[in-house]
Amino acid sequence: MLDTSIYFEIKKTLPPTVTLVAVSKTKPVEDILSIYNCGQKVFGENKVQELCSKFESMPKDIEWHLIGHLQTNKVKYIASFVSLIHAVDSLKLLQEINKQAQKYNRVINCLLQIYIAKEESKFGLDFDEAISILHSPEFVALEHINIVGLMGMATNTDDQLIVKKEFTQLEKFYQELKKDNTIAHCNFSTLSMGMSNDYALAIDCGSNMVRIGSSIFGNR
Ligand SMILES: *Cc1c(COP(=O)(O)O)cnc(C)c1O
Repeated sequence: MLDTSIYFEIKKTLPPTVTLVAVSKTKPVEDILSIYNCGQKVFGENKVQELCSKFESMPKDIEWHLIGHLQTNKVKYIASFVSLIHAVDSLKLLQEINKQAQKYNRVINCLLQIYIAKEESKFGLDFDEAISILHSPEFVALEHINIVGLMGMATNTDDQLIVKKEFTQLEKFYQELKKDNTIAHCNFSTLSMGMSNDYALAIDCGSNMVRIGSSIFGNR
């Protein structure tokens, strides 16, 4: 049985304005149910297939977030139920999400993933790419997309100064876009940054959505 006391410890430290996404990737349904029974309703997965099978087998009042990289050919599997897609990083992907959302008569909430880390392997847009997507005529046509904010991952380092600098840059960019009322289909309310190792710092830097996996569920 999963020790749920850690979940309550973490919850206690979060300001009420911060949404906790419990990252349940690779974890069995029993563990997810234990956390669900503590009152947690928002869960995040990083793989489409795993997200779909957990959606099928778990209570229907769970809000499922896809937090990992999404390939265009897999959007169709999640479009009917996903409540937030965190890692949108191209216009092509937005167009596919729009197309699939339309089939279900939905508007799908998305975050643009912004590249802030010093690591080469991470996905995401730079600031200029994000701005040019948001101002493109192709984007304006996407009636079934609602961009609710940004997501970013800091460099995986013990150097708090580097992490703080990256989070601060992202927060600044988030505030700029939030103020810009010339952008269509945008209702900025969500800045998704912070994981098990850096969520406290992320919140200090303005995050209002943290994605926490291993601290809640144990190592993967
Ligand atoms: C796995 C994952 C997390 C959670 O990471 P932990 O270090 O286990 O808290 C957060 N965000 C993304 C995008 C992930 O893939």
